[in-house]
This record gives sequence, structure tokens and C-alpha cells, in this order.
Amino acid sequence: MSTNTQDRIAINNAQIVTVDKSDSVIENGSLVVGGDGSIRAISSAPIANNAAETIDARGAIVMPGLINSHTHLAMTLFRGLGDDMSLEDFLARLMPAEVRVLNYDAVHAGTELAALESLLGGITTSLDMYYLPEAAVAVAKSSSLRLQTGPNFLESDGPEPLKFADRLKWATKWLEAPRDTIGTTGWVAPHSTYLLSEEQLRTIADLSAKFEARVHVHASETVGEMQLVAQRHGGRTPIQVLSDTNLLRRSVLAHGIHLSDDDIKLIAQNSATVVHCPASNFKLASGIARILDLQRAGVNIALGTDGPASGNDLDLWIAIRLAGYMQKTNAKDPAVLPSVELVRMATINGARALQLDHMIGSLEVGKRADLIVLDADSPSLTPNFDPHTTITTCVTRADVQHVMVDGKVVVRDRKCLTIDRNATINKVKALGKQVLASVNNN
Ligand SMILES: [Zn+2]
Repeated sequence: MSTNTQDRIAINNAQIVTVDKSDSVIENGSLVVGGDGSIRAISSAPIANNAAETIDARGAIVMPGLINSHTHLAMTLFRGLGDDMSLEDFLARLMPAEVRVLNYDAVHAGTELAALESLLGGITTSLDMYYLPEAAVAVAKSSSLRLQTGPNFLESDGPEPLKFADRLKWATKWLEAPRDTIGTTGWVAPHSTYLLSEEQLRTIADLSAKFEARVHVHASETVGEMQLVAQRHGGRTPIQVLSDTNLLRRSVLAHGIHLSDDDIKLIAQNSATVVHCPASNFKLASGIARILDLQRAGVNIALGTDGPASGNDLDLWIAIRLAGYMQKTNAKDPAVLPSVELVRMATINGARALQLDHMIGSLEVGKRADLIVLDADSPSLTPNFDPHTTITTCVTRADVQHVMVDGKVVVRDRKCLTIDRNATINKVKALGKQVLASVNNN
């Protein structure tokens, strides 16, 4: 905590939305990022510093980077190719196409585009579930997007291609490797209970227990899934199956829409997180998640975009807005899910889901500096009497001016410094013909 070392960045004249325990907002605030990339000081008074760079926020909102707690980043490649259809038809169309077109380079290109889109839009951390996750880890390292991912499991061979037994060996190797903060290896991602047998699910649970790896899984997304799971797993719900196979404990459950009261109890008892993905849920007409009931049961609720083929973008501001509006309309009560709660879902609750809340998710001294600075001159953010309300009802990705991950500026004045924008976009465009052919080949 000494100023003897060189500070990296000082931000002055900011409206700091801390997302700390009491959701404090610091007006005319200053924040100093120390030489180690952590937040050294925050104050409503000027802070003595020797920072190499000073940013004058000119009264703009400074807040924690957004955390996208459920996505399939490289599905940018298939954006717009699975629209106006149910989840079941979407999967029947895209899963064979993925096997045909994906290899390391394609996943790398798709993830790099997703990282560019994410960082420019204020997302600093993503929990990803996709094939060939080593390509996503490489992108995370080069782009500085804070990425959490791990080996994925489903009963088909996938584009890797790996039979289940070989997939287990690959996953074991992955989990044995040293873990770091960007490009973690501490996750396993069984796709769902409808695409895996009970025995396979139990095997994955054993693997996860052995390496203390976290579980990221789709659960209870559509009525069709509920029927498939009931048929396959003796009348049980996905949550019951996850509980019975020891996968529910501290898991991250994507969607969690069609939940019984008992399911909600099980989720709460197991300290699992539900990642609400309202854009995907609306678009696929999957249903309305029981967010208020989950909240009442004390369940941690985070937000996700889902993959950019079901989302169809990686816009967490839209997710924030839709989450609020969906629940208000459903409850016929505009007071439910107030802005402070929605901001928490997109930040600290995501950090908690990823077990990174000691490091990120709020702007507090000692945490890593993952933060965004919004545009002080944006017409749609003016006036800004209540920043939480501004964030949840007005901010769009175009308002994100600067982005910092781990104390390093990755977006400055809306330009990503870690990814070559044109090269990345052109790479994905060049894959377009092949992607289109892979989808039309069904
Ligand atoms: Zn998903």
C-alpha cells in the first residue's frame, strides 16, 4: 500500500459505482491503480499518486467491468444462422455444422472476434463453454479478456474429435496443468443432462471432485429439454439429475428457467448459481426464469448473453435491461429487480459465480482493476441523477469509452489495444462461405 512504487493509472473526477456491500457511489471520486494492477486507493478526495497515466473522467460513470457468466464465444462464427426456431431445431442445425467446420484456427478466429466485441462492449470477464477451449485460452492470453473455461463434455465426439473415454483423458490432462488467473483450467463443462448419460455425468462429477474443478452446465432451459431429460433419466428434472450425480454443488447453471419449487430448494442448498440469459430466452421463446423466487430462496443470480448464435450478440447491457423488464412485466410490478440489484447481477454476482469475488466484481481497494469508464458526453446518459438507473436503462455499448483488465488499459477511446480489429473481422468473414456450407449441408 505504499506510494514508493510506481502507480500505473489515476482516474480523477469520476462518479464511481463501486458495487461494494452497500452499493456506494462516490461522487467526484478518484481511483488509483497501483503498480501491481490492483486498486490501491479510492476516495472522494484527491489521492496523492505518481501514476504514469492520468485519466480525467470528467464526471463519467466508472464501474466494474461486466461479467458474462454464460457464453459460447466462438459461436460468433454462426451468428444469425439459427434464428426463428426452437432450441431443439437450433441444436439440430448447428451441432453437425460445428463438427464440420471447427478446428483450432476457426475457434481461435471466432473467439478473437468475440473477445473484441466483449471488450469494446465493457465485458472484462467471460465464462465460456465451447469446443477446443485451448484456442479460447490462447485468445484470452493475447487479448487480456479474463476468461474462465475448461474441457467440455457431450456424448458425441465433437469437432475435436474425441470419444468419451479419450475426452476424459484430455480433460484430466487439462485439469492437471497449472492454473492461472487468465485462462483458468479449473472448470469442467458437461453440456447438459439431455446430452449425457447418468454414468457419464457421474464420471464427470468424479473428475471434478478429484481436481476441485467447478461445473458449468446448461439446465432446465426449455420445455423440450424437460421432456427429453424426463424420458432419459427416469422422470427426473435436470436439477434432480445433477444433484443425484453430484454435479450440483457450487455449479453454474445456465438458464434455469423451468424449475419446480423442489428444484429451487436443491439449487439453494447446493450454493449453485443460476445464470440468467434473457436475450437468448426471449429470442428462443424458452420461457421466463423464476428469478424472483430464486432470489427469495437466496440463490446467487448472474447474467449471461449465451452464445452469439442464440443471443445473437455479446451485449450484457441488453441482458441487464431485458432481465429487469422481463421480471417487472411478469410480476406486473415495476418495483421488482431494482437497478442496484441488476447492476450486481452483471458484476459482483458473476464474480461470485466464478469464485473470483475476492479479486473482481466491485471497485474496492485490493481488488484487481477490472473497470470501465463510460462516456461523459453521451446524450443518452444525460442527465445522470442516479447512476444505477442510468446503467440499467440507458447505457449501450457505444457509451463504453475506456476498459481496463487487471490494471491494464485494453480499450482506450473505443479502440481495442490488444486485438487487431480489421484482421480479426476479416478472418471471420473469410470463414463465412465454409460456415454457410456447413449449415446448409444438413
Ligand atoms: Zn448456452
